[in-house]
Amino acid sequence: MTARLLDGQAIAAAIRQSVLPDVAAFATAVGRPPGLGIVLVGEDPASEIYVRNKVRAGTESGLWVDLQRLPSSATLEDLLVVVERLNRSDPHDGILVQSPLPAAMGRGAAQRVFDAIDPEKDVDGFHPVSVGRLVQGRAQLAPCTPSGVIEMLQRSDIPMSGARAVIVGRSEIVGKPMAMLLLQRDATVTVCHSKTRDLPALCATADILVAAIGRAGFVTPDFVRPGATVVDVGINRVTDGAIARRLFAPGSPRLADFERRGSVVVGDVHPDVVEVAGALTPVPGGVGPLTIAMLLKNTVAAAQGRQRPA
Ligand code: NDP
Repeated sequence: MTARLLDGQAIAAAIRQSVLPDVAAFATAVGRPPGLGIVLVGEDPASEIYVRNKVRAGTESGLWVDLQRLPSSATLEDLLVVVERLNRSDPHDGILVQSPLPAAMGRGAAQRVFDAIDPEKDVDGFHPVSVGRLVQGRAQLAPCTPSGVIEMLQRSDIPMSGARAVIVGRSEIVGKPMAMLLLQRDATVTVCHSKTRDLPALCATADILVAAIGRAGFVTPDFVRPGATVVDVGINRVTDGAIARRLFAPGSPRLADFERRGSVVVGDVHPDVVEVAGALTPVPGGVGPLTIAMLLKNTVAAAQGRQRPA
C-alpha cells in the first residue's frame, strides 16, 4: 500500500482563496484592510524564513502586515513595550510574536509575552483566555497549526467522529490544542509524550496519528496501523549525513538533495511510513502551509470580532 499524500499547499491555497471576500468586505466596511502586526526579535534563520512567508502570504491576501523588528539584544521589557503599543493600535487587528525568543530573555519569557497580548488580537491563540475558550469548545482564535490540521482532515474527508486519535507531543502550541480540537470533533484522543510507555504499540492503535515531536523520522512504520492517517507536524533540518542516509534510500531524490545542499528538511515521520499509512502529510508541503493559511483566517476573524459591538 502507498499512502495518499494530503496536499497541504493545495488546501492552504483554497483556504487563502476563501478569506479574500471577507478581507474585501472588511476593507469596504471599515475603510482599511485587516491588519496584522508581526514582531520578530533577533535573526534566527528559521524564524526569518517563517516570518518572510507570513508577511508575503498576508500581503498577497490583501492584509496590511506590519513587521516590527527588534535586535537580538532587546530585553523582555523592550518587547513588552512593543506588544503594548500594538495592543492599543487600532489598525493592528492581530498580533503575533515569533518564537523562539532569544534565550537571553530568560525562561518563561514567551509565556509572559503571550500573556501580554490583548486576547481579542491573539491570532496565535496562546493567551490563557484563548486557551480557556478552546478548552470550553468556544474558541474564537484557535492555534494555527492544530486548526490547520483539522481543516486538512476535514477537506480530505478523513472521518474524525469516533476515530481513535493518538497525538505524540504535548506542547502548548501543537499537542495540547490538537487534542482539544480532535476531542471536539468526537475523536477518542490519547496524548503521548517522552514518558509514555509502549509508544509504538499505542500509536499503532490510531486511526489518526499526529506526530508533533521535533525528532527527524522518529515515527517508523511499526508505529502505524496499516491504512491509518498520519499527520506529520515536525519540521526538522537535518545536516548530519548519517541521519539523512538512515532516512532516505540510496539514489533517492531527497538524499541527492541533501548531498547537493548539505541539509534537508524532514518531518517527525520516517519516509518509509508512506508504505503503511492510508494517508500521509508530506514534509515539506503538508501542515506547514496550513499554519500560515490559518493565521490569515485568524487575522480576519480578529478584525471582524473587533468591529462587533461588545
Ligand atoms: P516541543 O519541543 O515543544 O514539544 C515536543 C513534544 O514531543 C513534547 O511534548 C515531548 O515530550 C515530546 N517528545 C520528545 N521526545 C519524545 C520521545 N522520544 N517520545 C515521545 N514524545 C517525545 O515541540 P513543538 O510542539 O513546538 O513542535 C514539534 C514539532 O513540530 C517540531 O519539529 C516543530 O518544528 C514542529 N512545528 C511545526 C509547525 C508547522 O507549522 N508545521 C508549527 C509548530 C511546530 P515531553 O513533554 O515529555 O518533553
